[in-house]
Amino acid sequence: MQLEDSVSKIKGVGDKTSTLFHKLGVDTVEDLIHLYPRYYLSYEEPVDIDALKVGARAAIRASIASYAEAKRVRSLMLVTCTVKDITGALKITWYNMPYLCRTLHIGQEFIFVGTVTAKGAGLVMEHPEFYSPEKYADLTRTRQPVYPLTGGLSNKLVSKAMRQALPLMQQMEESLPAQVVSEFHLMPVSHAVCQMHFPESEEALRKAANRIVFDEFFFYLASMEMIKERQNYQENHYPIPYTKDTENFIRRLPFTLTNAQKRVIDEIRADFAGEHTMNRLVQGDVGSGKTIVAVIAFLMAVQAGYQCAYMVPTEVLAYQHYESISKLLSGKRVRIGLLVGSLSAKKKRHIYEKLKKHELDLVIGTHALIQDKAEYDRLALVITDEQHRFGVKQRQALSEKGWEPHVMVMSATPIPRTLALILYGDLDISIMDELPANRLPIKNCVVGTKYRPTAYRFIEKQVAMGHQVYVICPMVEESESLEVENVISYTDTLRAAVGQGIHIEYLHGRMNSEEKREIMQRYYNREIDVLVSTTVIEVGIDNPNATVMMVENAERFGLAQLHQLRGRVGRGDAQSYCIFICGKETKEAMERLEVMGKSNDGFFIANEDLRLRGPGDFFGYRQSGEANFELADIYNLTLIQI
Ligand code: ADP
Ligand code: MG
Repeated sequence: MQLEDSVSKIKGVGDKTSTLFHKLGVDTVEDLIHLYPRYYLSYEEPVDIDALKVGARAAIRASIASYAEAKRVRSLMLVTCTVKDITGALKITWYNMPYLCRTLHIGQEFIFVGTVTAKGAGLVMEHPEFYSPEKYADLTRTRQPVYPLTGGLSNKLVSKAMRQALPLMQQMEESLPAQVVSEFHLMPVSHAVCQMHFPESEEALRKAANRIVFDEFFFYLASMEMIKERQNYQENHYPIPYTKDTENFIRRLPFTLTNAQKRVIDEIRADFAGEHTMNRLVQGDVGSGKTIVAVIAFLMAVQAGYQCAYMVPTEVLAYQHYESISKLLSGKRVRIGLLVGSLSAKKKRHIYEKLKKHELDLVIGTHALIQDKAEYDRLALVITDEQHRFGVKQRQALSEKGWEPHVMVMSATPIPRTLALILYGDLDISIMDELPANRLPIKNCVVGTKYRPTAYRFIEKQVAMGHQVYVICPMVEESESLEVENVISYTDTLRAAVGQGIHIEYLHGRMNSEEKREIMQRYYNREIDVLVSTTVIEVGIDNPNATVMMVENAERFGLAQLHQLRGRVGRGDAQSYCIFICGKETKEAMERLEVMGKSNDGFFIANEDLRLRGPGDFFGYRQSGEANFELADIYNLTLIQI
């Protein structure tokens, strides 16, 4: 057997089990080896029978005191017997194990491990595991791995398969240079992998986990370095000039660019004209005006005769950008297309064809842009918006649609600089730390639910002034349908609570793209005053006339997410307000939310968030498969400082 063999090569793993393993992302023996335990069970020292506590799992050392009897109760075969130690006796029951009647004999001593429940007057231990004292002594010295499982795949089966792969683990070649292993006092990789699955001691396990996490960081950082190296040698195939026409376009915008915008545009210009391909992350707080920067870059590339692609995470956002960018670029002879998953097959085909024939200069869309069918012609610039919603792979998939095009990614989730270097180590970073001058700082308040009626009166007043409002209902984690119900019932409540003339609509994740778009369109057209929504609207939505953002159960959201939500208002000249309703007024929740009240600065919030959550949650920032660390997430390590 070899590492690259299919798991089905392992004895006892048939087709059915292979399919189950596949669900866990395990196809080869090597994948199996990297399926690390979620946690470990330890076997405790036995306690006396009279010390047992109802509901707690415990081990006892006792001998069989009565013949085991089997009895059928409905469809169950129940085996019962009594065991005793010097402190007392205990009843034990097993289900569907009738053969125990033959194998258990009076006087035999075992260690029983299980949970006791109170039945009638006495206690019962139900369906315990049991071991000979010798076997149990072995177990207490070790810890039992508990693996990630899926229906039909038991921990026992995974453990058994793992045991068969043990010889391969022992022969694994060292993956790091010897110098690194010794310098950082690391456990050899073969040893570490074995210890992860079959730990000999607490200490060995800790060292093993340390080693595995080290590898994950090491290879991630190394691959980032490699990409960066490669890019540094990547010749600029698409020199793009800055023309008079672009200059005029900028001059005729309805606003003057902020200094930060100007600076980033200068950086892009330099990249376009430089020797190497552009690879740039534009990090700008919500509302800092990243879109126009992208549009200017597109215009330059299109005027130089190239094609461009703009990838965004949601369809709602794709439509919004399509419309606003079409408007901005009208009269510029830029042929713009929209490509999203929900288009009819026919429409999609049409767009694909036009892209291929270069009858489109700029395509705006979602993941549909990186499907196999999408082929481009002289694709010279790809931009990903709200990068934090995509993974490195998707970002690469888009650039691989062309031949080493210029790449720009934009993110509104400010992250501390060290983290940015890790996640985006392969990119040059531009920071947009300035909001357009017409913006008034958003006024925030963090309040309890008692404040709700006051908030409603406030909303009425803002609507009377011609402004619009967002209300965010919390996500319902358990199910999307509960979430839908929640949004709808909240909308009803709100309709009853505010004045007649106010038009309220809702938006949720279950609506299809057409419905969502229609609602958003009506909201932009100001036919809707108050939009009740789940966090679907979180990213990118731009309606400068909205001045109130009210977030229900704000304590359930992360600070970075709240900051994103807040970014939906304060986009125009009018004073905007953010009302965070705290549904659970504990000290911690209030303290955390107060951070939002204190500052509108995304970078400050990101740092505070990190401080409050502690470094253990460092990678909580990493979203949707940004970098796939298996263990690094779980272990609180300060390896990053190396
Ligand atoms: P974000 O950085 O969050 O993506 P957007 O690009 O959506 O921000 O811009 C937010 C709003 O600010 C838009 O309505 C946009 O037209 C406007 N805007 C962008 N730049 C400026 C500027 N320099 N002055 C005034 N308004 C601007
Ligand atoms: Mg944006």
